[in-house]
Amino acid sequence: MPRKAIYPGTFDPLTNGHIDIIKRSLDIFDELTILLAINPSKKTLFTTEERLKQLKTVIEEEKLNVKIDSYEGLLVNYCKANGIGVIVRGLRPLVDFEYEFELAMANRELNSEVETVFIITDQKYFYLRSSLIKGIMELDGDVSDKIPPSIHDDLIKKFKKQT
Ligand code: ADP
Repeated sequence: MPRKAIYPGTFDPLTNGHIDIIKRSLDIFDELTILLAINPSKKTLFTTEERLKQLKTVIEEEKLNVKIDSYEGLLVNYCKANGIGVIVRGLRPLVDFEYEFELAMANRELNSEVETVFIITDQKYFYLRSSLIKGIMELDGDVSDKIPPSIHDDLIKKFKKQT
């Protein structure tokens, strides 16, 4: 049986920290799905369609063998419907622990057959988060070494449109 895993997130936008987790997951699992988790109550800079397109572009550029999908609903239901037994989450020091712990507990209670596995952030990316990228870009700071070039271009366009 292939070991199927899923890496869910908002990816608003995808950063090099996310890509690192994806690459390292591919070393462990036979099949990986990157799932754009749609949460209507979460305000995002990029629309679902824009983020899906960004994911597809980066995955093609990086030649990563992953599936991409989006889903609005309970993650464990998606896992069950697709025969996926492992949820991958990235863990940065301090900030992530409580939230991720609660999320993993809730998912385990909803479906104990699905395990959450944490991959510890690389030290290069431990402070990297999508909100930081947006904050710096909005103030014209340089983040080109922290995100893929195609996403950098999208951010420039997005902030130009807003001003
Ligand atoms: P969320 O799913 O909470 O909306 P994100 O889409 O930003 O958040 O992130 C998806 C997953 O990737 C989460 O588990 C998050 O902790 C992890 N992650 C985000 N940035 C990094 C990083 N720089 N290093 C490691 N893991 C990260």
